[in-house]
Amino acid sequence: MISEFSENTTAIDYSAVWKKCLGKIKENVTQMTYNTWFLPIKPVQLSNKILKVELPSRFFWEWIDEHYNLLINKTITEIIGPEAKLTYIIDEETEDDENLLGVAVKTSYREHTIKEKPKVNHNFESFLNTRYTFDNFITGESNQLARAAAGAISDNPGGTSFNPFFVYGGVGLGKTHLIQAIGNEIVNRFPEKRVIYLSTDIFTVEFVESIQANKVNEFSSFYRSMDVLIIDDIQFLIGKEKTQDLFFHIFNMLHQSKKQIILTSDKPPKNLKGLDERLISRFQWGLSADIQPPELETRIAILRKKSETFGMTVSSEILDYIASNITSNIRELEGCLIKLLANASLNSKEITFDLAKKTVKEIGTNRKINNINIESITKTVCTHLNIAENKIRDKTRKKEIVRARQLAMFLSKEMTNASLKTIGLHFGGRDHSTVVHACASVEEAKTKDRIFSELIEDLKNQIELNST
Ligand code: ADP
Ligand code: MG
Repeated sequence: MISEFSENTTAIDYSAVWKKCLGKIKENVTQMTYNTWFLPIKPVQLSNKILKVELPSRFFWEWIDEHYNLLINKTITEIIGPEAKLTYIIDEETEDDENLLGVAVKTSYREHTIKEKPKVNHNFESFLNTRYTFDNFITGESNQLARAAAGAISDNPGGTSFNPFFVYGGVGLGKTHLIQAIGNEIVNRFPEKRVIYLSTDIFTVEFVESIQANKVNEFSSFYRSMDVLIIDDIQFLIGKEKTQDLFFHIFNMLHQSKKQIILTSDKPPKNLKGLDERLISRFQWGLSADIQPPELETRIAILRKKSETFGMTVSSEILDYIASNITSNIRELEGCLIKLLANASLNSKEITFDLAKKTVKEIGTNRKINNINIESITKTVCTHLNIAENKIRDKTRKKEIVRARQLAMFLSKEMTNASLKTIGLHFGGRDHSTVVHACASVEEAKTKDRIFSELIEDLKNQIELNST
C-alpha cells in the first residue's frame, strides 16, 4: 500500500522507466488510443517495483483498467520485472477522500479490486459493478416509474409489492445500470443482506456445469440463500427448458420467503413467447416497469453529467447538437462523447462544434446494433474454425480446440464488456487467470504471425456482421 512506502528508497528515474513502458505500449495500440489514454498518464514514483502514476480522472482510470489492463500488466512486468505493480492516483480535486484512498491502493489487477471493502464479508462474490449507482442515473419521463420503484425496493428489499421487479426495454436504455444500482444501494445500506447479480447466460452456464459435476443441489441452494437475486436479460431463458424449470423452483422459494427478485428483459413478460407460462405469470405478480428511449431533455442531462464525469468541457450548443442527433440509446450517447474526447485529444484540438458534427457523422456511419456477446462470438469462432460448439468448453488439450477457445476468450475480452471471470465461466468454468493467459498468448501470436492476425480481423468482421 502507498502508505507503507518508505520515502527514502533509492531514487530511481521513474520517468525513464515509464518512457520505456510507453514505447512498448505504443507498439501495441493505435496512435489514437495511445494519445488519448496513455500520453496523459504521469509517472510520479517508483519504489519496490511499484510504479505510481497519476491519472486525470476517475473515469480515465476505469476506462484504462477495463480496456488495457492486460497490456499494462504485460508491459510493466517486462520492463520492471516479475513483481511489478502499478498503482494509480487521481488528479482531481473533485474526487472525495474515500475515492482517492480506494484508488490509491488499487493495483493494476482488475478483478475484485474496484470494490470498496464490504462491511460484512460474505463468502461469495456479488458481481455488482460499483460504477452503477443511483447518483449517476439520470431520471426523466422515460424511466421515471422504474427509477421510483427501484428506490422503494432499495429502502425495503423484499418488503414491497414490487416483487418480482421486472424491468424491460430496448438495448442501451439503462436496465443493467438501474438494477445494479439497486444492488449496490442495498449492499451499502444493508451489508448483512446477501445480494447477487448475474446475467441469464451465466446462470445457465453455471447450471449446466452443476449438472455435469453432479452438484445441482448445491447450485440451487446457493441461489435460494440470497436475500436479493438480480438476473439480467431473462429473455435468454427461452429455449432452455431445464434451466427454466430450476429457476422456477428457486423463484418460488425466494418469493415465498419474501426475498427480493429483480429481473430485466428486452420485452414485457407477456411477450416472452416460448417461455414457460408458469414463469410468465409469476413475472407479472410484482411490478413490471418499462424504460423508454430518453426524451431530448433527458439526453441532454445525461450528456452533461457524463461530460462532467469525463472531465470534458463541452458547450451547451454542442450537447444540444449531439442530443438532437443521437436519439436511439444512451450507450450511443456515451460512445459519442468518448469519441469526441478521443478526436479532440488526438489532434490536440478544442472540442468545437465542427468536431462534434464530424464525430456524430462518424457514429452515424458506423452504427451497428450491438448484439455482440460471448455466445455470438463463440458461435462465429466455432463455425469459422469448423469445431463443434460444445467442444470448446471441454477439458480437452487438443491443439485446435485450445486455440479456438483462446481465440474466443480473447475476442470476448475485446468485443464485450464481460469481466475475465464471466468469460472464464463461459468456457467451461475456467478461472480468470486462464483467460488472462489465453488473451496474452493470442496477443503474442498475433504480433508474430500475420496470417493469424488476419484471421482475428476476419473473425471480428464476421462477428460484427452476424450481430447487425
Ligand atoms: P441496457 O442494460 O438497457 O442495455 P445499460 O444499463 O447497459 O443498458 O446502459 C447503457 C449505458 O448507458 C451504460 O453506460 C449506462 O451507465 C448508461 N445509462 C443508461 N441509462 C442511464 C441514465 N438514465 N443515466 C445515466 N446513464 C445511463
Ligand atoms: Mg443490459
